[in-house]
Amino acid sequence: MNDVLYRKYRAATFAEIIGQEHVVSILKSAILNEKASHAYLFAGPRGTGKTSIARLLAKGVNCSNFKEKGDICNNCEECKLINNAEALDVIEMDAASNRGIEEIRNLKETINFLPVTLRKKIYILDEAHMLTKEAFNALLKTLEEPPSHVIFILATTEPNKIPLTVLSRVQRFDLTLASSIELVKKLAFIVQKEGFRSDPKALESIFKLSGGSFRDAESLLGKVMVNSTDKFIGEKEVASSLGLLETELLNNFIFSLLRGDYEGCMHNLAKITAASVNLSYFIEQLIKILKDLLVNAVNKSSTEFSVTSIIKLINAVFELKTEVKDFSDKEAIIQIFVIKYLHNNSVTTLEQNNTAQVKKTISARVISSTDVKTGPENDQVARFIAKCGEVSLRLKTALFDCIISLHEKVLLIKNPYKHTLAYLSKSEVLEIITKIARELFGDDLTLDLALLENINSKKSPEQREIEIEEVVTSKSEVKDDKILDNSELVESILLIS
Ligand SMILES: [Zn+2]
Repeated sequence: MNDVLYRKYRAATFAEIIGQEHVVSILKSAILNEKASHAYLFAGPRGTGKTSIARLLAKGVNCSNFKEKGDICNNCEECKLINNAEALDVIEMDAASNRGIEEIRNLKETINFLPVTLRKKIYILDEAHMLTKEAFNALLKTLEEPPSHVIFILATTEPNKIPLTVLSRVQRFDLTLASSIELVKKLAFIVQKEGFRSDPKALESIFKLSGGSFRDAESLLGKVMVNSTDKFIGEKEVASSLGLLETELLNNFIFSLLRGDYEGCMHNLAKITAASVNLSYFIEQLIKILKDLLVNAVNKSSTEFSVTSIIKLINAVFELKTEVKDFSDKEAIIQIFVIKYLHNNSVTTLEQNNTAQVKKTISARVISSTDVKTGPENDQVARFIAKCGEVSLRLKTALFDCIISLHEKVLLIKNPYKHTLAYLSKSEVLEIITKIARELFGDDLTLDLALLENINSKKSPEQREIEIEEVVTSKSEVKDDKILDNSELVESILLIS
């Protein structure tokens, strides 16, 4: 993995740590007052700076100028030794590869020797949760009676796997993933230092992809920089380097889905499949855009879509996410997703569409197939279809699929396909239909669009409505930006070069 930037821009002083203010201030005051604990645990997701802070702590307690400067000086002999990885008294162990009791025994044998060059001997044990039970037991004895010249620092992504007996003997800090502001600030700093320019939106995209992990964000930025030809990091550069799609295209795709706009969907889909897209990230991007839309809809700030319709689409995307793993033809699976979604949801979209015009003219409802009595052979209906066909061939084709009946000044149009109904209920299409129908059958005519139920369906319309509600409520949980773990995804993107 491309960790060059991560290593290069690792914080060298406490002041350079972005975020984690509470941890930094407690550690700094402990060092200043010579009250550092004998054992620490840094817990948190990957890329939150656990080992970076552990190394700062190792430097801080040994730095000769800390009291004077209030931070690490990076200039004294002790700081220099640690920075050059030459300090014998800072011992870093990776429990992922040194899991056993042997290593802990070795550690116990050397622990009583006084530090060689530094004031404090520091043991940094990364991925501490990987230790075996026996190794933990051996470590526990050391933690019970540690020599005063020793500080243990355990780091872990899975604090729940650390035995309680160990947890009770360490001072624990939980490190959190970076916020958008913190991470973008760090990326902008690196971009500037490296002599690049950037569009904040591009950095925001990298933040979203990283899920708040500094390490992932910096690795992804590194990849975009390598591919940049003119030292500029824009949305296009991020998209092409990482196999992502531009937000505008994704927004259009989502809006066309929510509007039940079949043509729009297909148009955007063609663009999506033409780009060499990373499908996993495509889905992640969809979910994130939908999450933002949902939050806006819940807060009732500028969105034309209802909470229910957004949740339905989110559920469909979650299903797509699980299905996509099993298919190699990614293009086909997205096409199926679009058609399936429009087919299943267009009537609901129609019901929830806030367009006053649509509400006025349509009382969309799910009706049963037994309602079907009249066919399009009726002369008046045939004339109506022909007139519509003069305006639009697509409209004519759509109407041929319908069962249309005229009864007591109500023109009822039924169709088994929700995407056809969605098309017919688009305001501009509806306007044409209404105008022609009123010309032919009188000004007081009203239109009624309805879904023609599948003849084989044994479920009543009420049952179906209940089922839809259940699906929506059972899956309505939406993850927050900060708890999305994208590490697998990031790795997969970085592997594709
Ligand atoms: Zn120093």
